[in-house]
Amino acid sequence: ATPTALMVGTGRGAKMGILIKNGEVLEAVNDVKTVVFDKTGTITVGKPQVTDIVGDQDQVLALAASLEENSEHPLAAAILNRAKELNVDVKSADNFQAVEGKGVAAQVDGHTAVVGNHKLLANFKFDPAMERRETALQDAAKTVVYVGLDDQIIGMIAIQDVAKETSREAIADLKARGLKTVMLTGDNQRVANAVAQQVGIDQVIADVLPGDKADHVQALQQTGKVAFVGDGINDAPALTVADVGIAMGSGTDVAIDAGGIVLVKNDLRDVDKALALSRKTFSRIK
Ligand code: ADP
Ligand code: MG
Repeated sequence: ATPTALMVGTGRGAKMGILIKNGEVLEAVNDVKTVVFDKTGTITVGKPQVTDIVGDQDQVLALAASLEENSEHPLAAAILNRAKELNVDVKSADNFQAVEGKGVAAQVDGHTAVVGNHKLLANFKFDPAMERRETALQDAAKTVVYVGLDDQIIGMIAIQDVAKETSREAIADLKARGLKTVMLTGDNQRVANAVAQQVGIDQVIADVLPGDKADHVQALQQTGKVAFVGDGINDAPALTVADVGIAMGSGTDVAIDAGGIVLVKNDLRDVDKALALSRKTFSRIK
């Protein structure tokens, strides 16, 4: 494409709320074979809500909130909001620790408390009935965290983040172009599968630790160029490694800096619009 065509292309993008940092990025979009999406905040709204509490509601929620007060994770915000709504008494926690991809731990009133997934509670004994409940909640697209006090599991909290209204259409558009769609998430496999099914995603890679997202993108690059769409701090390495990094405008600054394209409207349908724009700008007549 001529410099003029490039300027027209990026200018058109900007008008649609698709910020393209340079012409090279716009050209790379043309050759993309696979589009990889982060889940939370990218495919889903990013405002998770507590839907179910198993165990003594006040005790489970109060303990979880004491720990999550120290966390920046979207799951923490959901738990704190519900604790506020239900006016539970939140105690302060000491020695707070966040364990990446697993959960949080701290001391409350001299007791050890944990909130997280099976990986964090590896040494706890799980009640089979509770695990069956966990599975059912996960199959309904709800993320489940266990709450442990000393060596006992005292309950669990289910948290749901709904898919954005336009995600399904956005993914259908990409598939209609012959592109493969993949979801890459730190969340549990069952939850990820349930969300993927709702929006029509082809392939799911779940239980991914934040540091491993970029490696998965590299593996997918074996079969052609990859675009990665994400919003979080932990998405920055994947956004950088991908042939095209696409950040949500609502994302963290780190993600926006790492992306070659920024979707100002946070609408996933703009991924397909960026592809169309690239096709137009780099039409094969040379
Ligand atoms: P994602 O951003 O894709 O949800 P993360 O790696 O941040 O992935 O989290 C993966 C999993 O780790 C969560 O689904 C949850 O089970 C657990 N986890 C992480 N942070 C917390 C937290 N603050 N409280 C409870 N669980 C957490
Ligand atoms: Mg995210």
